[in-house]
Amino acid sequence: MFTSMTLTNIYKINNTMNTMEQFQEDISMKFFGRSVSLAKAANQCVCCGKNATEFRDEISKREYRISSLCQHCQDEVFAQLPEED
Ligand SMILES: [Zn+2]
Repeated sequence: MFTSMTLTNIYKINNTMNTMEQFQEDISMKFFGRSVSLAKAANQCVCCGKNATEFRDEISKREYRISSLCQHCQDEVFAQLPEED
């Protein structure tokens, strides 16, 4: 009982992740004309296509793992966001 419930939960989590990845893939193809998974595999930026190997700090590195944006593109994107109060 416990085992099967756990397996069901794991399956659900995996399923959600795949949907998320598919969603990211669709968005990146639409906006950047580039596959986010291919960009990540080659350590490239999904936005500008340049190498994304140099980051200012751990936060920017982590951000790359989420958004696949290089330091330069992260700066551009976050500069446009309104400041949080
Ligand atoms: Zn970039």
